[in-house]
Amino acid sequence: MHENLKQQLSEVCRHDVLSWDNTCADCGEEMSTERLEEEARRSQEMERSDKSKYPTQEQHAKHIHALGVRVDWLVAFTYEHDCWNWPTRVVERDIVKPLTRESRCRYAEKSEFQDFVGPARVFLSHTWEGLWGTLVMAAVSGAREDRHVWIDIFAVRQWKFNAMVSVVCTHSVLIILLTYAQ
Ligand SMILES: [Zn+2]
Repeated sequence: MHENLKQQLSEVCRHDVLSWDNTCADCGEEMSTERLEEEARRSQEMERSDKSKYPTQEQHAKHIHALGVRVDWLVAFTYEHDCWNWPTRVVERDIVKPLTRESRCRYAEKSEFQDFVGPARVFLSHTWEGLWGTLVMAAVSGAREDRHVWIDIFAVRQWKFNAMVSVVCTHSVLIILLTYAQ
């Protein structure tokens, strides 16, 4: 199922994720100069926008910390997209990327999710090839429905130009309780 899904998705690769050498991180295809220039321009635009909204490092960090998502929303998200058995890499590429392609915002910044977004109490570290459902089950384990968890593919902008994409082929999930959370 996994391999079939990967195969199907690779046929419609949108070349959204650039590797350190500016090739497509999914299929390896070379990007055009125009595309790279466009990516650099959009990336600088976002950096300027962030700097004007969050001038200090502390303001910026506070904003990012406040992009935790409620676990009941996380479960609903996973049912809605039926992505329990997808690798996290595919959730990011085929759900997070399409919805943020135009605005280049962070997924948790979308206005439609604001009732379910708030300061995180729990930080979740996941692996790119691990199953999304494993991450969700770890997030809800022993939790009240209003627990907010911090997951990078929702809280961090996924459109950074020339960002290093690291692929770690293990399947673990790490939970850290944020002791400094408000
Ligand atoms: Zn590609």
